Amino acid sequence: MTGLAAAGTALREKPYLTPYAEESLDLPLAFEWGDGVPRLTYRDALPQEWMFGALWARCGTVREGKILWNMVHTLRQRRCMLKRLCRVCGRTATDPDTGRVRWILPSALAGDFRSPWPTVHPPTCEAHVGEALASCPYLRREAPVVCTVGDYSPIGVLANLYGEDDSGRVVETHHQIAVGLDESHLLPRVLATQLIVQVSDLQPAPWPRRP
Ligand SMILES: [Zn+2]
Repeated sequence: MTGLAAAGTALREKPYLTPYAEESLDLPLAFEWGDGVPRLTYRDALPQEWMFGALWARCGTVREGKILWNMVHTLRQRRCMLKRLCRVCGRTATDPDTGRVRWILPSALAGDFRSPWPTVHPPTCEAHVGEALASCPYLRREAPVVCTVGDYSPIGVLANLYGEDDSGRVVETHHQIAVGLDESHLLPRVLATQLIVQVSDLQPAPWPRRP
């Protein structure tokens, strides 16, 4: 936590992607039956809590309290992905001149900029590439590359899979698995926590200059 805490104290903005303690909410999960199959729901669910055929983890939006550095705010992560917003500031990561989106991807890319690449990491605007690299433990560990993306599309969710035990209680059976948006047999039983997108038409971009 030391490096991360130090990075946190140096941040100029409250990180957009990171959740805060007061945004943690109870998840009153239950199963309901529809079309002959069980579907995961909340006991007080609202229609907008489903997207891509999956129920999404409920979370608050107050951005108050202790910063939970090693976690991701589900709804802000999804919003970043769908609207091409920066993981640090929540503003657009699209270059207004080229229409391309700035993205930090893992070193496993290994210079192959021609193949599409799946990721749960949202874009990063040009102004915050350096800050994202300095403050995100996952990005640091993956020895990332900076690039711009010409196109992308949602392909799946990172999710927890649920079932019922012998007593009818809702229990988690698999934690943080990737489920494709075409896996219609699984989607009704997952609680989605992050959107997975596939980026394509990649081009290398310069790393930020050190101040
Ligand atoms: Zn930004």
